[in-house]
Amino acid sequence: MFPTFTLRYARLPDRFFEPFTPVHVEKPELVAFNRELAETLGFDLSAFNEQEATEWFSGNEVPEGAEPIAQAYAGHQFGGFSPRLGDGRAVLLGEVTDRDGRLRDIQLKGAGRTPFSRGGDGRAPLGPVLREYLLSEAMHVMGIPTTRALAAVTTGERVMRRMPEPGAVLTRVASSHIRVGTFQYFGSRHDVEAVRTLADHVIERHYPELLDTPEQDRYLDLLKAIQQRQAQLVARWMGVGFIHGVMNTDNTSISGETIDFGPCAFMERYDPGTVFSSIDTNGRYAYVNQPVILQWNMARLAEAMLPLFDSDEQRAIERATEVVQGFAETYAAAWLAVMRDKLGLSQPEDGDQVLIEALQEAMRVGRADFTLTFRQLGECARGEDGDAALLALFEQDAGIREWLPRWRERLAREQASGDEIARRMHAVNPLYIPRNHQVEQALSAAAEGDFAPFETLREILAHPFDEQPGREAWTLPAAPDEAVFRTFC
Ligand code: AMP
Ligand code: MG
Ligand code: MG
Repeated sequence: MFPTFTLRYARLPDRFFEPFTPVHVEKPELVAFNRELAETLGFDLSAFNEQEATEWFSGNEVPEGAEPIAQAYAGHQFGGFSPRLGDGRAVLLGEVTDRDGRLRDIQLKGAGRTPFSRGGDGRAPLGPVLREYLLSEAMHVMGIPTTRALAAVTTGERVMRRMPEPGAVLTRVASSHIRVGTFQYFGSRHDVEAVRTLADHVIERHYPELLDTPEQDRYLDLLKAIQQRQAQLVARWMGVGFIHGVMNTDNTSISGETIDFGPCAFMERYDPGTVFSSIDTNGRYAYVNQPVILQWNMARLAEAMLPLFDSDEQRAIERATEVVQGFAETYAAAWLAVMRDKLGLSQPEDGDQVLIEALQEAMRVGRADFTLTFRQLGECARGEDGDAALLALFEQDAGIREWLPRWRERLAREQASGDEIARRMHAVNPLYIPRNHQVEQALSAAAEGDFAPFETLREILAHPFDEQPGREAWTLPAAPDEAVFRTFC
């Protein structure tokens, strides 16, 4: 049933990883399996055998052809550098080739103590596993680049966190698990040969269009290309109110996918300073800071790659600096494109940024729900019938009342009917997002052995842009007594 493994990463030099066999778990049970994803990965589901799948996805049995490894990486965590992090609880089985011919990593997260575990137990609690499952799949269906969830298994063992929790293993699928921190691991060791080997691997795998670029420009162009993809990714996060929570350099992927869903969450009422993560006490990774942090992470990537840019160090620094300084413009363009789409604006105009910022200010002052505001604006594109419901989302509506006619005046210059604009907007502004209180409720129920709320949420989130009759309650923000202010990983 398991597709054939390619072992591209495992064939890189020995110092890129440590061989590691997942640690046996007591009593594995398959609690979620993503059939649709399995099919795209080339699993033969006609031969699906739950018993066998459970053994694989718990790590109790290594599928034929896999060579499990823990990947080495470093990283800046909340600004402080750790030269050796690595997969402390994850194991890469290998890559498979999906239906589109792309290599996809298959990784088990929570597979036991590895040579990189330091003080950790190598395990994952069920709650964070299911949160990653829900959120990564929700991101995927919203068209936002992300790792995906193939399976979740409970281990029958307890893991100790703030309190004892059921243990679990997540099977995660990614374009690759190469991170900014992977470059930093070798860069900080002045292992230029490894940095080059890694860069070549990354180009072949994620940026093949650079293979023809002359060598003196190829690696600088790689930095540019990674920065471009990451800028687009973070712009997409901003466009759905997603707060990653832990944008450390080891959690910033080279392929441009959302990775390492920890204490992440979607914002409800609009407040640019929103932080959910219990470990982000200074708000370093607040919603509004995400682009700035990304640029900082790109500067760390540039440092790690520096010797590849030019044999003359001063010249290499100048070239890298120019690229990283270009981030502001790259990001601004990506963000503007996302926000224009959200507001139904297909033809760029000079005043758009000012218009968008005025809406944000109205939302901030009015404490309006981010998701519902954009969704309802889609209705308002059809005509004024939708206005009352929009205004009702604002605690103070003076700002939005003043803003609406400005937007309508702008929409009038679109070559499209109100219905067409509404349709376009509804295709990019989700009605259903993984709201924290709903996610937390699903996770608490699952911890007690009831997976029904998780399943319901999974179904709902599979169609974020569609109205789902009877499920209106899932579109609503938390009531004051349900609100979740802190998330844990
Ligand atoms: P994260 O914050 O989950 O991105 O992880 C940061 C680093 O800590 C990585 O090197 C992880 O492998 C490691 N780590 C996180 N949780 C554990 C754990 N339970 N056991 C061992 N290592 C862990
Ligand atoms: Mg090794
Ligand atoms: Mg991580």
